[in-house]
Amino acid sequence: MSFSSLSLMPSLVKQLNSLGYEQPTPIQQQAIPVVLSGKDVLAGAQTGTGKTAAFVLPIIQMLLQDLDDKATNAEVDNATNAEVNIVPSKEAPKKADNTQALILVPTRELAQQVHQSVEKYAGDSGINAVIVYGGVSIKAQADAIQAGADIIVATPGRLLDHLRNRVMSLANLKHLVFDEADRMLDMGFRDEIIEVLKRLPKERQTLLFSATLDERIFKFSKRLLYSPQVIETSDRNSTAAKIVERVYNLDINKKMPALCHLIKKENWQQALVFSRTKQGADKVVTQMKQAGVNAAAFHADLSQTMRETVLAQFKLGDIKALVATDVAARGLDINELNYVVNIELPFQNEDYIHRIGRTGRAGKEGQAITLLSVDDEPQLIKLEAFLDRRLPQQWLVGFEPDLTQVASVTRKTKKGALKKQALKKALAQSKRR
Ligand code: AMP
Repeated sequence: MSFSSLSLMPSLVKQLNSLGYEQPTPIQQQAIPVVLSGKDVLAGAQTGTGKTAAFVLPIIQMLLQDLDDKATNAEVDNATNAEVNIVPSKEAPKKADNTQALILVPTRELAQQVHQSVEKYAGDSGINAVIVYGGVSIKAQADAIQAGADIIVATPGRLLDHLRNRVMSLANLKHLVFDEADRMLDMGFRDEIIEVLKRLPKERQTLLFSATLDERIFKFSKRLLYSPQVIETSDRNSTAAKIVERVYNLDINKKMPALCHLIKKENWQQALVFSRTKQGADKVVTQMKQAGVNAAAFHADLSQTMRETVLAQFKLGDIKALVATDVAARGLDINELNYVVNIELPFQNEDYIHRIGRTGRAGKEGQAITLLSVDDEPQLIKLEAFLDRRLPQQWLVGFEPDLTQVASVTRKTKKGALKKQALKKALAQSKRR
């Protein structure tokens, strides 16, 4: 299937060819015609599947067509006015009120990535996008908005600041996109989103993209979407294709030596390593550096400038391992990333899908490696139930778990669980009294 068979205009197809895109990905095949038809969309699509182009391309096309129509109408009006000698009286809308499309995203990194994509796909069409997120000067952003933005890519909190400050109005908005809506809810943006929605015209097209489609998203979407077309390109909650998952059973104190061994022995170019906590990420970085692997942390304690510097160094290949937390890593688009490592499993099962979706992007094969010690096992059981499949486990030669230790830890866990149960019972009894 070609891009032109999706009714994309020749100038956009040309732009995609110049980017080396040969054919649309499944989500693009399904979503582009529906978005172009003006319908609302509820789409389940993970990062790495080409979902950004699936909404950005049709939006750019609709904006260009709109501009074309306006130009034609203006020509007709001018001609008519000239004939009957009328001076146009109605002022054109202010630039800051002219935004036609708003793309809401959960994180700054995703905002940057989506903004870059808009610029990449828009090429020299004249459509421009302004990026809006927290942690940087509000004044510079306000100036950019007031200079005129066809498309705004924003995180909800900072967007709301600008709306409250009356830097702009979104009264003329035509298209609203929620990108990674599940993550927005995870991050507690519900109230901000509702506040933003109050300031938007009711008549608009709304598109909602989410890595996971579950009851929570369906419920949320009911408030936002009008008779949407539901699009799912793969099984619900399934991971993107072309990702090989490996789970190594080992002792907790062997995780770092095993990881450094794998990186060296298998000659990994780069890896994105996940830690549950910021402190954990810092610790992993220290240990990796001690083992001679150039690593850097990527989490919310880093300033925005620092995050950008680290990311740029990683993209250039100066850093071998980027050790990130789940929130910070969301939205990272790194080409050619072959390895994702879970130092421990994430707190939230959905994050496993998000994490490993960082590799195997747009059809490239990727490896997702989980280092599993006995204390991760309860989380693994929950994850496998969520994924509805087992993750194959194996031992890494030279790093086999100490089975005597395993037994003692299991006993300890059991003892701990019994203690907890006893405590719960005692508390319940004391409450009754
Ligand atoms: P996304 O899922 O939107 O984050 O896209 C993941 C990556 O795939 C990005 O680096 C895009 O530039 C790339 N991409 C998107 N669509 C295509 C396509 N049709 N062919 C090749 N690469 C693509």
